[in-house]
Amino acid sequence: MPSAPDSAPACEALFARARAVVPGGVNSPVRAFRSVGGNPRFVTSARGPYLTDADGREYVDLIGSWGPMILGHTHPDVLAAVSEAAGRGFSYGTPSENEVALAEEIVARVEPVEQVRLVSSGTEATMSALRLARGITGRSRVVKFAGCYHGHVDALLAAAGSGVATFGLPDSAGVPASAAAETIVLPYNDVAALEAAFDTDGEHIAAVITEAAPGNMGVVPPLPGFTEALRRITREHGALLISDEVMTGFRCSRAGWYGLEGPYAAGAPDLFTFGKVMGGGFPAAAFGAPAGLMAALAPDGPVYQAGTLSGNPVATAAGLATLRGCTDAVYAHLDHAAKTIADAAASALTGAGVPHTIQWAGSMFSIFITDRTVTNYDDAKTTNAPAYAAFFHSMLDQGVHLPPSAFEAWFVSAAHDDAALDRVLAALPAAARAASE
Ligand code: PLP
Repeated sequence: MPSAPDSAPACEALFARARAVVPGGVNSPVRAFRSVGGNPRFVTSARGPYLTDADGREYVDLIGSWGPMILGHTHPDVLAAVSEAAGRGFSYGTPSENEVALAEEIVARVEPVEQVRLVSSGTEATMSALRLARGITGRSRVVKFAGCYHGHVDALLAAAGSGVATFGLPDSAGVPASAAAETIVLPYNDVAALEAAFDTDGEHIAAVITEAAPGNMGVVPPLPGFTEALRRITREHGALLISDEVMTGFRCSRAGWYGLEGPYAAGAPDLFTFGKVMGGGFPAAAFGAPAGLMAALAPDGPVYQAGTLSGNPVATAAGLATLRGCTDAVYAHLDHAAKTIADAAASALTGAGVPHTIQWAGSMFSIFITDRTVTNYDDAKTTNAPAYAAFFHSMLDQGVHLPPSAFEAWFVSAAHDDAALDRVLAALPAAARAASE
């Protein structure tokens, strides 16, 4: 097994160059190793379950580009589709068939969604879904849950998960008070708090937005009945329910989290957002709903939304090839690979005397180094971040790249075969010991 060194000189040199010209040396904050210490690895290539860095070291990848790489890196079918599409042009600025085919693929999978509008990032998807909800209802307020991350939309950054949680920020500077004033932040999995907010403010609330199953404070699935309650309460008050499936969509099942938990007795969410897997590693995302709601969007309706690169032909080719590759056998393999790693991690941590809780949403999981069951962001924050940092670095040194944050999900792929899983399993006991020190 190739082992990673304590130092990574080529990566360090690249990071020094990066810091001179890129803020913090990274183009998305969670890529920095701030919360675990050290410097990020600069990747030169990725194939199957492996990343190779600038020092020539190979890692089993459990980040999966933060979700998209469900088939593994550089999957031959996706590569062929991308190459073929790129050979026919990079961006047209006028419609193309693959946009329709990708929309059809999504609509066929997620039953309540009749139409989608393609965008280029999950942030755009949630921002646009929120605008649509406000446009339809004529109301301005939005409820979000602490620890949920919906991209870096002004109105949705308060008490956000992902990097905002990783760096312990309450919210972001630069968000005007007026943008945040319309946001009501509630604890996740707390129906009474939601009922109280609607009792006070119901007539002004356009939408509740929730991660379908949160993965951005670590994985914190909805308690039984919680999503059902969201649906019931929003409907009673004439507000819309936005289910953010950017992370869970097409990963937890072929129809995302909705495919595992829906349909709800009280009805389906009104709006869905998607990203990550549906772009296969390229910038493609979407928001969707029944046709009656989507009719409010320009050019048919008054809610404006647009994008120069929306429905990009190369990105849609990658997304289509990826979704078409997500067979039942792939989902069964993801479950197997995730369980194999989680079971081994649990036994290694138990063996080292490290209290921990492993939580699941489909094959997405995360390990909280805490003795609590984690049902909301306050619980998640009890995770022992320094112990996670020690665990992370031990794994990295042994050639396994985990997310550099205690507040993220771990992602496996169809390409995580026995050889890759064996490397992970072999690294876990030493990492667990490091976490116990
Ligand atoms: N929504 C959820 C649930 C996410 O996990 C993310 C990103 O991690 C986003 C939205 C934002 O997506 P993007 O980073 O593509 O803008």
